[in-house]
Amino acid sequence: MNVLVVNAGSSSLKYQLFDTNTETVFAKGICERIGIDGSAIEHKQLVKGLVTSETRPMKNHAQAMSLVVEKLLDKEYGCISSMDEIEAVGHRVVHGGAYFSESVLLTDDVLAKLRLCHDFAPLHTPAHIQGIEGCLAVMPGKPQVLVFDTAFHQTMKPEAYMYALPYELYRDYGVRRYGAHGTSHRFVAGEMLKILGKTEGTRIVTCHIGNGSSISAVKDGKVMDTSMGFTPLAGVEMGTRCGDIDPAIVPFMMEKLNLTPAGVSDLMNKKSGFLGVTSGYSSDSRDLQKAIADGPSNPHHEQAKLAISILKLQLKKYIGAYAAEMNGLDAIVFTAGIGENSTTLREAVLTDLDFLGVDVDKELNAKITRQSNNVKISTDASKVAVYVIPTNEELLIARDTAAIVSAI
Ligand code: AMP
Repeated sequence: MNVLVVNAGSSSLKYQLFDTNTETVFAKGICERIGIDGSAIEHKQLVKGLVTSETRPMKNHAQAMSLVVEKLLDKEYGCISSMDEIEAVGHRVVHGGAYFSESVLLTDDVLAKLRLCHDFAPLHTPAHIQGIEGCLAVMPGKPQVLVFDTAFHQTMKPEAYMYALPYELYRDYGVRRYGAHGTSHRFVAGEMLKILGKTEGTRIVTCHIGNGSSISAVKDGKVMDTSMGFTPLAGVEMGTRCGDIDPAIVPFMMEKLNLTPAGVSDLMNKKSGFLGVTSGYSSDSRDLQKAIADGPSNPHHEQAKLAISILKLQLKKYIGAYAAEMNGLDAIVFTAGIGENSTTLREAVLTDLDFLGVDVDKELNAKITRQSNNVKISTDASKVAVYVIPTNEELLIARDTAAIVSAI
């Protein structure tokens, strides 16, 4: 089945056209600055290896979708000859609240429930709705499927998802842990389960470490716990997000720095993490690695080292905590930009975990590149299998969409 996967952000729209039978991507691209001056599309036709970029006014997501379809149909850069060849659309949706524990076919009721998730993801939800409405306008009647980043985490028990706050906050406002990156955790956990050859009795820690990072405990193929919380601000240190801090620091900062709720949220979401610990130097781990490799002559050396050390220690703590929560550990998976690429981070996190039976093969670990596919980096003697598995959220969205639409 030909499935168009759409990831609509507030001013961007990414897309990939998949043939789910062969799991090939025909074309992909991104529309940027939607609704802003200078909007542009970059389109890649992967079968012929062609790339085209164009600046074109896009007032809204419907106009962006119509441009995407125009490119897909283009005689030179396209890959289909009629809109009928797009059989379904799969949307990435960041937050489905407690309404969605799996991917669903779009209906009026589904759209109404998605609107109720607005407060959980105020930037993303309106963008997703615009993306969906854009598809409805440009491809009326085409089946659309929503795949939620929160859905995989819906198997958590109340003791894992509830906060020790007045119960009314949960009852009246839905304040609880939802987690995020669920599509990525589900994809890599699924790959790991195939490698382990079973689901029942397995205990896996999946580490999605990128610009945003989250860790999940996956027991018997189901999420038992995850590090992100009510929002993606919780858990480990990230590019610009602080991760877990003492909650008392929030009112303290508001008072000392004279910040509003929006101001303190901005500080914790956009000015913290690697960027904050390095006093504004960089949120990109590659810059931090360079400052570390340069040695003390680099003015950012010490703070870059500190920023990366904080993350390493936090990852180790999560692995230990989740092993305890699952009463053991069979596998650890690393994925996303840093998880797939940073040899030094993986080595530091995996060293001195021998009490858990983790034995990393340093040579194998050093050989991994982003092009590597599902590579084992633990020794044969290791009781815990450690793998680097490139994530592929779009493929999972395409697979879910094809499965749901085939069953209509
Ligand atoms: P993601 O959010 O998954 O795209 O990951 C982004 C993060 O991955 C950034 O901090 C990048 O510095 C990091 N990253 C991407 N490629 C590499 C690489 N080749 N080596 C080290 N880190 C990388």
